[in-house]
Amino acid sequence: MLHILRLDRPIGCCRLLVPCVYCGCVPFPAFIPVWLFVTAVLLAGLMFGSFLNVCIARLPAHQSIVTPSSHCLRCGTPIRARDNIPVLSWLWLHGRCRSCHAWISVQYPLVELATAALFLACVLHTGPAWQTLVDAVACFLLLGLAVMDGQTMLLPDTFTITGIAVAFLLKVFAPGIRFRARVALRTLEDAAIAAAMLLLVWALYRIVRRRDGLGLGDVKLMAMMAAFMGLPLALFAYFVGVLLAALFAAVLLARHKARLSDRIPFGSFLAGAGILAIFVGKPAIAWYLSFYR
Ligand SMILES: [Zn+2]
Repeated sequence: MLHILRLDRPIGCCRLLVPCVYCGCVPFPAFIPVWLFVTAVLLAGLMFGSFLNVCIARLPAHQSIVTPSSHCLRCGTPIRARDNIPVLSWLWLHGRCRSCHAWISVQYPLVELATAALFLACVLHTGPAWQTLVDAVACFLLLGLAVMDGQTMLLPDTFTITGIAVAFLLKVFAPGIRFRARVALRTLEDAAIAAAMLLLVWALYRIVRRRDGLGLGDVKLMAMMAAFMGLPLALFAYFVGVLLAALFAAVLLARHKARLSDRIPFGSFLAGAGILAIFVGKPAIAWYLSFYR
């Protein structure tokens, strides 16, 4: 939620970035100009988005994300630093390789812009708090997984399993929390229950239809989301993901663009719904539960 900045108020008590019509305080970054803070967040988002492009292009093909350095996929010419500036280089070169003039997918600047927008949304959503870091890391991984599954039907362990480990560490080593052992146990419990639920769906589908309906990558993705955002939000993401995937499939079937036996990248819908859950999951669950009171 975007609040109104009140620079006439004291610094300190509120953990939000641009509060605060509620308590009236000016929080931590008030002594840093807001434009500078926002610019820093956006630049970090663009740089991480650029790195995410490398991961998206290489991880599903089991290639190293370190070597070789960025190069044109057609002519193999290494991309010079000045041609590797997020978004700007793509615009400057009109979306073409400087050497061979091959098209460079618009996906590159879009992923960079989306990462920057998500990082900024995380900061506006929670403010300069540890949770913002947790949300931003989750958004980075989920965006990458959504694109990778859409393109290759693969959800690399380098993102899902590593994601579970990173979520665990971020939760357990969060500053200022008590009962770290309890947090650790809860995080593992959430991930295990989420994985078990999807494994059950996977097994039932396999028994009934005698083929795979879900990939095991989806199971690991679900566990990763539960580790980052807790079981309730992961379940919210699951239901929204199923709904979106069903809608997408219905549209494809109605337009005769697909057959019932075709596969769709469920992980993309699940990961997209996971990003949605970070920002609107809690109020959406509260709204839903209000009907039962
Ligand atoms: Zn080229």
